[in-house]
Amino acid sequence: MVDILAQNRRKAGTRLTGRIVRPGNPSYRTARLEFNRRFSKFPRVIVFCRRTEDVIHAVKWARERGVRLRVRSGRHSYEGFSSVNGGMIIDVSEMNKVKVDRKRMIAHVQTGNPLARVYRKLWEKRVALPAGTAPDVGVGGLALGGGIGLLSRKYGLTCDNLQQVKMVVASGRFGAKTIMANKKKHSDLLWASRGGGGGNFGVATAYTFRIRPIKTVSIYSITWRWRDLEKVFPAWQRWAPSVTNRLTSTIEVASRQVGTIESTGQLLGSASELQRLIRPLLRSGTPVKVMVRTVPFIEATRFFAAADLNLEPKFKITGAYGFQPLPREGVQIIREFLSKAPNRHSSVWCQSLGGAGSAVSRVSPTATAYPHRKAETIYELSARWRNDDEQLRNIRWVKRFRRALHPFVKGDYVNFPDLQIKNWPKAYYGVNFARLKQVKQKYDPHNVFRFAQSIPVK
Ligand SMILES: Cc1cc2nc3c(=O)[nH]c(=O)nc-3n(C[C@H](O)[C@H](O)[C@H](O)COP(=O)(O)OP(=O)(O)OC[C@H]3O[C@@H](n4cnc5c(N)ncnc54)[C@H](O)[C@@H]3O)c2cc1C
Repeated sequence: MVDILAQNRRKAGTRLTGRIVRPGNPSYRTARLEFNRRFSKFPRVIVFCRRTEDVIHAVKWARERGVRLRVRSGRHSYEGFSSVNGGMIIDVSEMNKVKVDRKRMIAHVQTGNPLARVYRKLWEKRVALPAGTAPDVGVGGLALGGGIGLLSRKYGLTCDNLQQVKMVVASGRFGAKTIMANKKKHSDLLWASRGGGGGNFGVATAYTFRIRPIKTVSIYSITWRWRDLEKVFPAWQRWAPSVTNRLTSTIEVASRQVGTIESTGQLLGSASELQRLIRPLLRSGTPVKVMVRTVPFIEATRFFAAADLNLEPKFKITGAYGFQPLPREGVQIIREFLSKAPNRHSSVWCQSLGGAGSAVSRVSPTATAYPHRKAETIYELSARWRNDDEQLRNIRWVKRFRRALHPFVKGDYVNFPDLQIKNWPKAYYGVNFARLKQVKQKYDPHNVFRFAQSIPVK
């Protein structure tokens, strides 16, 4: 009986709704693009959903026809996981409402919003959500994997502030339905959505976040020359997790060709306090440029966003966590690799996450799917380029660099995915992988939501 019903449904066929873009449509050329131009995939259809029903129809349509599907918000997947050759992209970027409830200090944020829009809409009510820096990263993918940024040490990861997810999941053999996951209902899916990574369980269409009041913050930037590497990098690594949790900071060592080291950070506090707090950094090496100022929070988000603009279009990035400062040999490895970088667009970037009273480290590694709670810092090793003939050299360099640093760092952030990591379940999820597989089995037993590094059905 069930089979006949299913067959009839397939014959009748679900109709796609929303803005449908197929090859041949004038907007297909741009609609198919990923942020990382290393990937150039040709999906069979892209559905720009405007309502949850459009998402439900898309999932059903794909299931009825056995068409592979991918979910997309901001297109920023490092490994092109939100696109697929010959399949369907379910794109939620036109679902971008933001509603702030200042009384309850929560915000309802549709998943298609880029971060810049989330910050702007919340700023209108003088509230903020701790999230990432790049303006066009999608809150959709960011929140599901964690969400690190310049408010992390005080207010936690984006996913720590996630209270409810509205998600379209597969149901039965060809169906799809909407569920709400929160503390009371489907709490296992909420747990998995807080660090389990995008694209694994269903299509998230709306989030409810806890938000915080915000007005002004103080920001700094210090630049050194490359020759100070051995002084500055260890000094930052000792200092960054030990200062007040109201201060989150970064350090970026550029390639030797560029020849600079820059540390930036944001304090929930005054410029004079920040001047005092950064003294240990100012005393290391010889800073060549120093900026400290108090700005409205929204201006600070623009300051940090600027670092992510105008980058080379193709990239290979890998991530890792530091649980203690790099020893001298580790800093030496950074020197060696950045001395022989494939081009000037390679770098090592680090952000402080843990340490003194950090909201990230206060959460237990199993309380949410994001397990790297005890890490002091997160690393990104990146290579960027423009022409295809540079690709192999750059990818190999990142691979060798990761391997060389391996004795001193651990794991990887699921939002910095790297297809070269063989034991990725351990690297991304550590102790939480077994439980994530159970959640997958429960909510997506037919493995509808899958890609190269998706959580497998048990
Ligand atoms: C320039 C740049 C800057 C970055 N800065 C930061 C930063 O400051 N902090 C930080 O934490 N991370 C940062 N990231 C990493 C970022 O968090 C990840 O790339 C994230 O996955 C991007 O989400 P997206 O929606 O933009 O990407 P997409 O490519 O659309 O999606 C990424 C993954 O999530 C899935 N997904 C997307 N939307 C949904 C949805 N609605 N429901 C279910 N699954 C979904 C996709 O299928 C895919 O697997 C940065 C990345 C880039 C390229």
